[in-house]
Amino acid sequence: MALISILAVIAMTAIAGTPANAGSPRVIASIAPLHSLVASVMADVGEPALLLSGPVSPHDFALAPSDVRRIAGADLVIWIGAPLESFLVKPLSGAGERQLGLLGMPALDALPYGSGGDDENRAGPDPHIWLDPVRAIAIVAALQDRLARIDPENAATYRANAVALSDRLARLDETIRTRLQPVASRPFIAFHDAYGYFSRRYGLQAAGHFAIDPQRRPGARTIARLAGLVRTGTVSCAFVEPQFDARIVEAIDADRLLRVGRLDPMGFDLEPGPALYETLLNANAEAIADCLGGVR
Ligand SMILES: [Zn+2]
Repeated sequence: MALISILAVIAMTAIAGTPANAGSPRVIASIAPLHSLVASVMADVGEPALLLSGPVSPHDFALAPSDVRRIAGADLVIWIGAPLESFLVKPLSGAGERQLGLLGMPALDALPYGSGGDDENRAGPDPHIWLDPVRAIAIVAALQDRLARIDPENAATYRANAVALSDRLARLDETIRTRLQPVASRPFIAFHDAYGYFSRRYGLQAAGHFAIDPQRRPGARTIARLAGLVRTGTVSCAFVEPQFDARIVEAIDADRLLRVGRLDPMGFDLEPGPALYETLLNANAEAIADCLGGVR
């Protein structure tokens, strides 16, 4: 410990008077759950900026000129990947080590969208990797690694923060597993196809969804299929999301058979910061346990 402190002092002395290295790195994270993980890893060093800070879906977002300038001035931009934040592909082309797109990393084991929908356009990997706490541990390792590389003098802090956060995420995974185990076999309908990784992790039965993408209205075939699942009693629980018009549920539930819960894949309702990620995952697990647990 003493040796590390001495080395840190030597390292800081070595960069003293080098304005380019002064202060903490300017880091931008695209979406709130990712920003939360970055904020935890950067604790005691600096605070990352959040790109999508309003109640806006990354599936339908366009950069303002001020965002483009912020991105150009950042030391590191952390995002999921082109299937989610297509608006970042152009500004980050040629950014090299100044960008970290997580979806392509082998450790994250990105998978195709699951079955259960009638959407035609399902090419490419499912980008909703952050909704799985075990994959979040792999995200944290990647964040620590890249931050240590662009800001070596704070590498020990990033490492200590990453270890502590990974421990918390492992406990979160256990808590959610315990909470969902009694209801895992009961099928549900989600608003958009965001819960493939979460469902696989905890053995949940996602029977269908209204849309692959929040901005696409469900077609007549999708509505008819989902209404059939409700009418036959196959599904008794559906989840709305903050960015959707919840009245769409009425289209598949003429007889009011469904229990309706609410899932928030992005943390729209939460204050951005280090606590958001765990709060978000716990709230979603709680909503699923409540809705499925109340069935019949
Ligand atoms: Zn989504």
